Amino acid sequence: MSAPWTRRSILKAAGAVALMPLLPNASSAVPVKLAGPTMGTRYRVHMENPPKGLRVAELKHVIERVLKTTDRLMSTHRSDSELSGFNASESVSWQRVSAPTARVVETALHVQRASGGAFNPATAPMVDHWGFGAVRKVYRPPGAVPDGILDSVRQAAIELEPGRMRKGHAHAALDLNAIAKGDALDQVVSVLEREGVHDYLVEIGGEIVARGPGPRGDGWRAGIEHPRGGVHCVVELQGQAVATSGDYVDFYMHNGRRYSHIIDPRAGRPVEQELGLVSVIADTAMEADAWATALLVMGLEEGVSFAENHAMAALFLRRDGSGYRELTTPAFERFRVTYT
Ligand code: AMP
Ligand code: MG
Repeated sequence: MSAPWTRRSILKAAGAVALMPLLPNASSAVPVKLAGPTMGTRYRVHMENPPKGLRVAELKHVIERVLKTTDRLMSTHRSDSELSGFNASESVSWQRVSAPTARVVETALHVQRASGGAFNPATAPMVDHWGFGAVRKVYRPPGAVPDGILDSVRQAAIELEPGRMRKGHAHAALDLNAIAKGDALDQVVSVLEREGVHDYLVEIGGEIVARGPGPRGDGWRAGIEHPRGGVHCVVELQGQAVATSGDYVDFYMHNGRRYSHIIDPRAGRPVEQELGLVSVIADTAMEADAWATALLVMGLEEGVSFAENHAMAALFLRRDGSGYRELTTPAFERFRVTYT
């Protein structure tokens, strides 16, 4: 396995957890569970009522090939990935790009535009500067971002055309860690659907997609983790994805200030605000993943009004004294269930 995508250990990952049913299994077919390491975290697939004749070993192989493809193409922690090659190159000419990477970059650029630059896949040089890149980890703030790094992000001008991609600044570099895991999850879901599996829960490092009646026949439930551990609330998914971003997942403290792995590219520094966690439920995991990060960067006021105006299902936890206070959009409430 290659080096981790993010520095999150599985215990530190922000996200959701699948909740085990309290009632006995309602179905007759034997459930199938698959799991394994991927992208510095773990993947998990739980299938209820799998179709007759499902070749489980082959399915596992295909799923792991899909996950390895994402890692091989888009990891910033492997110097041999397609993305690292693009980042290392100082050429501003067109370069070939694979279809999976192009698909993720395209959505990332869309979210960048729609979020007014709060989400920015070209934030990599700032991520590195603040100590959260692949190369090194610092535990003291290195000081303001030098102009050269600001320019490489602000003038990145990433462009995509079918089969090719280019940068507008020699030192521009991409970081897809805030979105690629979601895309990988969507790809696993496509594999399952193609194989005739329609009752499943898939998780990669705290991002979940679930569909179908689930183990007790009344839907799959996912618990959204609280920043301090445990489950904050429970949602029921019917084919949607839930993803969570938190500034507490990877950070260091210095002189009482928090320096988080999530960077506000507009300010050129780690997010520093009262908002600690954002969860988003969306039709695809790639959207949920990207928007959870984007809304966190936007901050409480901008993030909540953006989510409301765009009918997004989002949960926000803001620090309040020694605890957290919750804000949600109406669309989010439609997924919330009281867990019994
Ligand atoms: P997530 O856990 O999905 O919120 O992704 C966090 C990761 O995305 C960080 O560890 C960085 O690698 C990267 N990142 C940080 N800030 C941004 C940003 N403003 N836009 C896009 N990616 C970012
Ligand atoms: Mg994300």
